[in-house]
Amino acid sequence: MKVDYLRISVTDRCNLRCAYCNPLGDHGLKDDEEILAAEEIQRVVRLSVACGITKVRLTGGEPLVRADIVDLVQRLSGVEGIEDLVLTTNGVFLSGLAGALKQAGLKRVNISLDAADPECYRCMTGCEALSEVFDGIHRALNVGLTPVRINCVVVREINLSQVAALAEMALRLPVSVRFIEYCPTSEDTGPVGSYVPNREVREIVESRFGALSSVMAPEAGGPAVYFKTGGSLGTIGFISARSSIFCQRCNRLRLTSDGAIRPCLHSARSYDLKTPLRGGADDETIVRLLRRIVSEKALYTRLTAPAGDFSMQQIGG
Ligand code: SAM
Repeated sequence: MKVDYLRISVTDRCNLRCAYCNPLGDHGLKDDEEILAAEEIQRVVRLSVACGITKVRLTGGEPLVRADIVDLVQRLSGVEGIEDLVLTTNGVFLSGLAGALKQAGLKRVNISLDAADPECYRCMTGCEALSEVFDGIHRALNVGLTPVRINCVVVREINLSQVAALAEMALRLPVSVRFIEYCPTSEDTGPVGSYVPNREVREIVESRFGALSSVMAPEAGGPAVYFKTGGSLGTIGFISARSSIFCQRCNRLRLTSDGAIRPCLHSARSYDLKTPLRGGADDETIVRLLRRIVSEKALYTRLTAPAGDFSMQQIGG
């Protein structure tokens, strides 16, 4: 599989405390000077184009808590060879930033939303910010950060009850509501029973809204499969990373906020990019390292070099 997609965690900080994402708490957060600066990220992206990267996603932590996020988007949107620049956010600060992000060159957003009910949202995220997220979704649609995708991780004992209400958003809004299988990343993330296979989620959606028919969503091509139900404005997607294995189709590298490249989310293998970046390495040396990482990607997976405990917040999901 051609590696053409770079996910960049631009900060390890987040304003929410999602139960499934941040099992290690704030333990292990990096000092500010360890986080890559905008110019450093821009350089990595520019050089990664020479290695085949054409798509970049900004994630975190929460990318919108980074003070220079609009400047960063502006810098990356100007990198020749990057055809798709997108961002994943929890949406809490999106309504105030969507216009500026669009103007800076961002193409579209994925917004995490795990509940449609305020109490359940608070239980999942530790915060009361549901109405801000809804504002963010509407603002993203209004300014054209589209197609908007809503990502929902289903955790049995917390938000299984929300599946129908979240799916219903795809009936009345032109959005893709995508159900993501919960992936435990630490011994402490809770009982094994928290995981809900997407087969079960689909049954809930179909029992409420009728049979789903398969569609190819615009901008598809990742691990999600998409469906429509009668008369829906949007689509419903399923990302079943636990019940299916995508390794052969994986086209991505991850850059952590402190400058390490991870070829596989579930592997402990990481390559230090920050030391050469800050140590005066020339472009050719960095490109050589990036090419080596791409060529070695298939060697390091959850099967060959499994990661120990980690939090998605640190790596970017
Ligand atoms: N703060 C942003 C957000 O909330 O979308 C970006 C960072 S978050 C780590 C990126 C993605 O990872 C989100 O879509 C989130 O739902 C997903 N994610 C986090 N922890 C997960 C887990 N344990 N299993 C599956 N997906 C997870």
